[in-house]
Amino acid sequence: MVVKEKPRSKFLLVKCKKCNNEQIIFNKPAGDVQCLVCGEVIAKSTGGKAEVLGEIIKELE
Ligand SMILES: [Zn+2]
Repeated sequence: MVVKEKPRSKFLLVKCKKCNNEQIIFNKPAGDVQCLVCGEVIAKSTGGKAEVLGEIIKELE
């Protein structure tokens, strides 16, 4: 049995593809995350890890 690494909460620095705003988001959001500047959805909630629609610049621990 393979022991998987515990899923850790992370924050992601994501760039909005529409307006290039960079925003820090939680990697397991409770709901869809919108860009604070233009309102574009940059990450979708999937019940677990977010489906990031923007560009991930980097991950923050
Ligand atoms: Zn935007």
